[in-house]
Amino acid sequence: MNFNRRFVLAASAAALSMLAHPVLAQDKGLIGISMPEKTTLRWIQDGDQLKSALEAKGYTVDMQYAGDDIPNQLAQIENMVTKDAKALVIAALDGTTLSTVLQQAADKGVKVFAYDRLIRESPNVDYYTTFDNFKVGVLQAESILKGLGYPEKQGPFNIELFGGSPDDNNAFFFYDGAMSVLQPLIDKGVLVVKSGQTGMEKVGTLKWDGATAQARMDNLLSANYSDGSRVDAVLAPNDNLARGIVSSLRGVGYGSSDLAWPVISGQDAEVPSLKAIIAGEQYSTVYKDTRELAKVTADMVDQVLSGKTPEGLDTKTYNNGVEVVPSVLLTPVAVDKSNYEDVLVKSGYVKAEDLQ
Ligand code: BGC
Repeated sequence: MNFNRRFVLAASAAALSMLAHPVLAQDKGLIGISMPEKTTLRWIQDGDQLKSALEAKGYTVDMQYAGDDIPNQLAQIENMVTKDAKALVIAALDGTTLSTVLQQAADKGVKVFAYDRLIRESPNVDYYTTFDNFKVGVLQAESILKGLGYPEKQGPFNIELFGGSPDDNNAFFFYDGAMSVLQPLIDKGVLVVKSGQTGMEKVGTLKWDGATAQARMDNLLSANYSDGSRVDAVLAPNDNLARGIVSSLRGVGYGSSDLAWPVISGQDAEVPSLKAIIAGEQYSTVYKDTRELAKVTADMVDQVLSGKTPEGLDTKTYNNGVEVVPSVLLTPVAVDKSNYEDVLVKSGYVKAEDLQ
C-alpha cells in the first residue's frame, strides 16, 4: 500500500470514528436534571435552558421530566445516581420524598442543587437557586390592590384566596408573602373573604392543578355569591390556576358588560395568561426570568464541580427542616397591561407575535 492510500484510509477511519463518537471539546462528566412536569409551561423553558447552558460548558446532560408523578421522579433520580452523575439539578415535585436517594448521592460525592423549589428534610442539599418567593406573593397582593384602585377606593372589596400545592415549599412562601399585605386589610374590613376560607390548609391547590382551582372557584361562587354580590378580586398563585379561575368566572357571566372581571393575580408570565391580561380577563402576573435562573444555576454547578466555593449566597432564608441551604434569590417583577411590553417583549422573553 503506497503512502497516499494508507493516509486516505487512516483519515477516513478517523472521520468515521468521530461520527460514531462526536469528540467534545472537553467532557466534564454527566449532570442529571430532574424536572417536575410540562403542564406549567415554564419547566419546559427551564429544562431547555439549563441543558444547553451545561452542554456549552462541556458537560453531558441527562434530563428527565417526571410527568407530575412522585415515584417516577424518584426512579429517574436513582437512575442518574447509578449512571454516576457528578451533580443533580432537581426541581422537586415533593421535596420531602427524596431523602434516601439524596443520601445515596451524597455517599458517592454527588453535588445536589435544588432548582427553584427547596428540597426539604434532607441534609444533602448543597445549594438552592430560586427567586425571592416571599416577594412574589407580596407583588401579587400589591398588584391586586393596584387593580382594585386602593387606597383611592376604600372598599370594602370581596376577595377569594387560592394557594399553590401544599407539597411545594414555594407555595407557602407565595401565600405568606401575599398575606403579609392582605391580612392587615382583611383585619380592617377593607377586604372581605366572603367564604371565610383562609390558610394554606383550606386554600391550597394540590399539584397546582388548574381544573381543581376551577372546581373550587365554582363552589365558592355558588355557595357565597349567588345572592347578587360580586367577587372583586382573586389571589391566584400562578398563571395556570388563574386561567382555571377565569374559566369558572366566565361560566357564571363575569366578563360581560354588566359583570366586570375581578382583579386576578398570577405568576410565570405564560403566553396564554399574557393574552388574558391584554384581553382584561386576568389583571397581572409575576415575571421570573427563567433564562437567568438557568444561567446562574449552570454557572454555579460548574464552579462547584471545579472545586470553587460560590460566594455572596443567602444563608438565612431557606431552612429545609434540617439545615439552612445556601441560596441564590433572584428578583421577581410584577407585570400588568401597563408594562408587559417593556418588561417582557423588549427583553426578548416573549415575542410580540406570540401575543397576537
Ligand atoms: C414555581 C412556579 C410555578 C409552580 C407550578 C412553583 O414552585 O416557583 O413558578 O408556577 O411551581 O409549577
